[in-house]
Amino acid sequence: MTTPGAPAACIIGWPVKHSRSPLIHNYWLKHYGIAGEYRREEVSPEKFADFIRDLPARGYAGANVTVPHKEAALSLSRPDDRARAVGAANTLWLDGGLRSTNTDVEGFLDSLDASAPNWDRDLHKAVVLGAGGAARAVVYGLITRGFENIVVVNRTRSRAEALRERFGEQVHPADWGQDVVLDGAGLLVNATMLGMEQQPEFAMDLGHLPDHAVVADLVYVPLVTPLIRGATARGLRTADGLGMLLHQAVRGFALWFGKTPAITAELRALVEADLGTSAG
Ligand code: NAP
Repeated sequence: MTTPGAPAACIIGWPVKHSRSPLIHNYWLKHYGIAGEYRREEVSPEKFADFIRDLPARGYAGANVTVPHKEAALSLSRPDDRARAVGAANTLWLDGGLRSTNTDVEGFLDSLDASAPNWDRDLHKAVVLGAGGAARAVVYGLITRGFENIVVVNRTRSRAEALRERFGEQVHPADWGQDVVLDGAGLLVNATMLGMEQQPEFAMDLGHLPDHAVVADLVYVPLVTPLIRGATARGLRTADGLGMLLHQAVRGFALWFGKTPAITAELRALVEADLGTSAG
């Protein structure tokens, strides 16, 4: 039951029914005894601008934004430097107007920090697969950590080249489908749909990675993706997509409900159970 006047937030998407964000935020609300609510809002692209303009009238302190609204959220709000640099916003809050940020950046970095401490000790070369919104957040995050050589490999090469235009000369577009690109990389990140349920499998030869390499997969359905399985079998340290999902949720909760929440083993287990899979 919702307490009248209690703060509320939501995730806005189209579709939105598969989102795990309500599970995460409602867990934290209960855990910290906060009388608030986090809901799903399925909003079409045509109705998105009106919907976010009316957030306060709808009783919302803010919102998460997912596909296909992240670029519109950016242009309809006052973004911070991070959201502007990435070109997409996933978190909205009210502060003298509608503000926005992109928490995929810290979700990615904080998840790696938690799962593979000192993963960024070798700044020499990182390989990022993909050039969509998530890859932009990853590349921006790697630049903030000082990576000098970020090789972006994307099926559609022109989109990888667009990332060099956006972020500068640390980004090196490379052709899709050549495993030698992994030679000498201290970090491999999958920011494509490959390995996701009902998508083609990830099929690169991880034998090209050095023994100290760390592997991150943004895909979390299934939790143990073919890439994570292959990297673990090779003895490499990994960070999975669920870690990023949990870490990206922290800032929004703090902005809307005034408490920086912890990512507990209990929360992770709850979402794993919902994903219908075990830690693997
Ligand atoms: P997006 O903007 O639509 O980009 C999709 C990317 O995947 C593009 O680079 C696309 O290449 C590539 N791709 C799709 N199908 C492919 C295939 N069959 N073979 C090779 N490449 C393929 O999507 P996004 O928002 O960046 O999301 C990318 C991934 O990150 C998704 O799996 C998403 O679930 C995940 N993600 C996870 C989190 C998290 O918190 N864990 C957060 C955000 C996103 P083209 O350019 O050639 O089409």
